[in-house]
Amino acid sequence: MNEALGSVLYLVAASLFIFGLKRLSSPLTARSGNLMGAVGMLLAVVLTLLQADIIDYTVIIAGILVGGTVGTLLARRVAMTGIPQLVAAFNGFGGAASGMVAAAEFLENAPSEVETAITVSISTVVGLATFTGSFVAFGKLQGLIAGRPMLFRGQLFFDSVLVAGIVGTGIWMITSGDRTALWLLIALAGLLGVTRTLPIGGADMPVIVAFLNSMSGLAAASTGFVIGSHALIISGALVGASGLVLTAIMSRAMNRSLANVLFAAFGGNGEGRPDDAGDGSVIRATIEDAAVTLAYARNVIVVPGYGLAVAQAQYAARDLADRLAERGVEVRYAVHPVAGRMPGHMNVLLAEADVPYKQLLDLDEINDDFPRTDVALVVGANDVVNPSAREDPSSPIYGMPILDVDRAATTIVIKRSLSPGFAGIDNPLFYLDATLMLFADARAALEDLARAVPEA
Ligand code: NDP
Repeated sequence: MNEALGSVLYLVAASLFIFGLKRLSSPLTARSGNLMGAVGMLLAVVLTLLQADIIDYTVIIAGILVGGTVGTLLARRVAMTGIPQLVAAFNGFGGAASGMVAAAEFLENAPSEVETAITVSISTVVGLATFTGSFVAFGKLQGLIAGRPMLFRGQLFFDSVLVAGIVGTGIWMITSGDRTALWLLIALAGLLGVTRTLPIGGADMPVIVAFLNSMSGLAAASTGFVIGSHALIISGALVGASGLVLTAIMSRAMNRSLANVLFAAFGGNGEGRPDDAGDGSVIRATIEDAAVTLAYARNVIVVPGYGLAVAQAQYAARDLADRLAERGVEVRYAVHPVAGRMPGHMNVLLAEADVPYKQLLDLDEINDDFPRTDVALVVGANDVVNPSAREDPSSPIYGMPILDVDRAATTIVIKRSLSPGFAGIDNPLFYLDATLMLFADARAALEDLARAVPEA
């Protein structure tokens, strides 16, 4: 293909990525944004296949078939609640692919120019650390590895020595072109990914998944320089930058700095009810109690959390809200930035159930309204409504902004037990006098409530 035409088409692909990303910023346009990005990527792949000096297409076609099949199956099978793990795995594969392409280039052409060797070492280190780090994050999110921070004595010193070792090995590789140095670099970077992700507590996983996403972009961009691919440089830079912006947004949502997330070993154990759980004197509500409280309220704020996602209760929530609206109750939804298990999780679910966007309000928009609210209906949320984040400096989540549901006149909490949420810590909200606990599966409870609310 004509080189100038190829460059123009690459530019078209890059523009599609940029406009696609822009459209992802609102749920109304996100679907078309996703499609634009996918078309851009298809164009970039086809152009690369047409342009590069490809000797044999067999391996490439086999790769497309295997990758396409695995991708399609995963996308169809994975439940919405499993998306963070899937994203973590994708980040890991992206990092590994970038690192391996750069390493292959070095193995093929070493000793190469110093500039290339420097870029190869950056791609290899970032790519491989992203690979192993992402799979540790995957294990934590999937429950294969304990969610609590896992540290050993002297870990920071060990990691510092590891980083020094990586820098030293990188210099050895760049100056000598020795392939042994490359293999050592791969091993050390892989180890660093593991030792840097294990100490990060379960509650910080959203931030770390966004950060690893950014790192996978950085590795791709750097590999783009190694093999001279403009498409890879641009797409990698976009992933790197947007991942970093997301990391900053998520850190801010948890009121933490990135350094604190990476080095503070934050979070409870995420396993079962903790020893310091309250005395168990909660006020239990029946479906009828809760239905009456809701039916005679003037305004209700629904707070969805991870439990709503697990129970797939978004449609039932919408039905209950419709029922209440028929009675003249004002219903709105308060969406916490880290509710659920992925950024935007609740927005996606509620949009799926056709909840009007103007009823979905962010933490900043709605938090001041809780003291003027008759009923806060918490559906399968826990950490994002835990008042100890606001009041208890000894709490591991102290400082994280929460939805102030405890300031509503009455709070109804729907969950199955007193088990903690993702951060693994008890929630004093459940023991307050104004809190009614409705122990049930979220979907069943919402369906029963919709039936029990008297007609207008
Ligand atoms: P939590 O994880 O704090 O709590 C969810 C609650 O849902 C649990 O206490 C559980 O209690 C309940 N639950 C589970 N299944 C059901 C069900 N079928 N019906 C009713 N209730 C159910 O959720 P939040 O949304 O409040 O907080 C999100 C947490 O996840 C935060 O700590 C956040 O940092 C973390 N996180 C967020 C990510 C993101 O990007 N949004 C990614 C990864 C982690 P019980 O078992 O008693 O029913």
